[in-house]
Amino acid sequence: MRLFSVKELSDLKEDTEVLLHGWVQETRTTKNLIFVVFRDHTGLAQLTIRRDSWNGIEVDNIPRESAISVSGTFMVHGKSKTGPEISPSKITILNIAGSPLPLAVSDPVNSDIETRLNNRFLDLRKREVGIIFRVESDLLWGIRKHMSQNGFTEVHTPKIVGTSTEGGSDLFAVRYFEKEAFLNQSPQLYKEILVSSGVNRVFEVGPAFRAEKHNTVRHLNEFTSIDIEMAFSDHNDAMVMLENAVRSGILEVSAGEREVKEALGVEVKVPEVPFPRITFEECVDYLSSKGMAHRDGEDFSPDELRIIGERFTGFYFITRWPASLRPFYTMPDPDDSNYTNSFDLQFRENEITSGAQRVHDPEMLRNRFLAKGLNPDDFSFYLEAFRYGMPPHAGWGLGLERLTMIVLGLKNIREATVFPRDRNRISP
Ligand code: ATP
Repeated sequence: MRLFSVKELSDLKEDTEVLLHGWVQETRTTKNLIFVVFRDHTGLAQLTIRRDSWNGIEVDNIPRESAISVSGTFMVHGKSKTGPEISPSKITILNIAGSPLPLAVSDPVNSDIETRLNNRFLDLRKREVGIIFRVESDLLWGIRKHMSQNGFTEVHTPKIVGTSTEGGSDLFAVRYFEKEAFLNQSPQLYKEILVSSGVNRVFEVGPAFRAEKHNTVRHLNEFTSIDIEMAFSDHNDAMVMLENAVRSGILEVSAGEREVKEALGVEVKVPEVPFPRITFEECVDYLSSKGMAHRDGEDFSPDELRIIGERFTGFYFITRWPASLRPFYTMPDPDDSNYTNSFDLQFRENEITSGAQRVHDPEMLRNRFLAKGLNPDDFSFYLEAFRYGMPPHAGWGLGLERLTMIVLGLKNIREATVFPRDRNRISP
C-alpha cells in the first residue's frame, strides 16, 4: 500500500487502497458512525467509520492532535465537506497527544502572539500559520534560483567575529575562549573580501544579529539576511539584480497562489520591473510639498516614509542617500561627495533592502574610516584585500522576514519568523 498525502487523493480512482500519516484534528460521533477529521501537511480528509463493521482500535476518544497512521480505501463519491473521504481498514496511534492542548489547532488564529509563540509547535500546525513559512521558503528558493542563474556562488562567512561590521554599538558580545568576540551584524566585510578573491559574484543567506534595544513590529534581534556582492559593477547593476531577484522570488510564490488566497485571503501579485526610482532629494522636496519639513542629516521617520510610500503602488527605490547616513564602505557620488551611489528598496513605508556601490580604492576607504571616526587599523584584515587589485563592486542586503511580511501583508515581523528573537524572547 502506497503512502499518499491528502492533496494527492483527488486524482485517485474509487476504492484505491491508501496509507496516510497525519493527525487527528477532531472526532464526531453518531449512533452508527464515527467521523475523524484527519489532517496532514497538505490538508484535511475525513475518515468515515461504520461502527457495525469496525474491528480496529477504539476511535471515539483518540485525543485531538495525536499522530496516527491510517490504511483504507478512497471513496470518490464521499459527501464530506471536510475534504476527501476515506473508509479506514486500520488506524494506528503513532503518538498520543496530551490534553488539554495549550493551543487549539482547529480554531482560527485568535490567541495573542505571545501564547502562540510559546506554543509554536502547535501554532504552526494551523494552515494559515504553516503556509507563511511555505511562502518564505518559496521566496528564498526563487531568489536563490535567480542568483544561481546569474553566476553567483553561494558562500558562508563567519558569524563569530572580532570587529564590528560598521563600527556601531548594536553588537552582541560573546565569550570566545580568552577573548571577547561578537555576533556578526552583516556579512558585508567578508563578501567584499571574497569579491577581491576572484569569485566575481557571491551571495549568502544567513543570520544577522542586531543588539538594537527597540522592540517594534519590523525589527528582530536575529534575522535572515540575503546578501549579495558583485564585482565590476555599480549601484545601478545591483538595483537591476535586486528587482529581478525579488520578482523571481514572488513568481515562485505565485505558483501556489490559490492556496495562499484560500488560507490567508491574500492576493500574491508578481511585480513589474523595473521598479520606480526616486532620489533622496526628490523625497525631501515631495515631503515639503506636503507641508513636512525633513530635518537635515536625519533618516526618514516612519511618518515621512508613509507619506513617500503613498506615491507608489508597491516596490520603489530611494536612491542617492546623503553620505552622512550611509556606512563608510559606501561609494560617494562622483559629482557631489555629500551624496552616495546608494539605494534602499522600499515597499510603501517599509524598508526591505539597503545597497550601494562600494568604495574600492584603499586610500579613499582609509579616509572614509577616519571621517566616520573609526580606526582603520581595527579593520586591517579587510583593508588588505583592497591593496591588490580589488575590482569596483556593488551589492545589497535584504531581510527575508521583511520581504515575507510585505508579500503577505503581515502586521508583525514575528509572524514571519519561526522562532523570533526580540528584546524579551530567547525561547523557544
Ligand atoms: P532599519 O532602518 O529598518 O532598522 P537598517 O537600515 O538597520 O534597517 P540595514 O542594516 O541596511 O537595515 O539592513 C538591510 C536589510 O536587513 C533591511 O532593509 C531589512 O530588510 C533587514 N533588517 C535590518 N535590520 C533588521 C532587523 N533588526 N530586523 C529584521 N530585519 C532587519
